[in-house]
Amino acid sequence: MSRFDPDPDKPYGSCETCGEAVADRPAMSAHFAATRATSGRSHTVRVTNRTRTERIEDALEELAESALYDFTESTSWLTNDGVTEEEITEAVRSVTADFADAWAHRDD
Ligand SMILES: [Zn+2]
Repeated sequence: MSRFDPDPDKPYGSCETCGEAVADRPAMSAHFAATRATSGRSHTVRVTNRTRTERIEDALEELAESALYDFTESTSWLTNDGVTEEEITEAVRSVTADFADAWAHRDD
């Protein structure tokens, strides 16, 4: 079992409104729909045991945030070479880095 595996003995989450355990995402959606239908407003579910996919997404999101931070911190070589912040602000709009595309072509 890795840090990305959910605890198999625990539910996906539990309802903060009524306390009901929700086994997985479909059960959570069903609980939202059922409570919306009966009271006009969905209950609130607190997720405490995220899925493996969600945990991996979280880790990748952290890496992406870190890469974005490094990107903005690494622009000093441009300004040191006479590029203004206004020029960077304008030009950065054309940057279209795509993490999924980079991953798909990682061995190119
Ligand atoms: Zn509930």
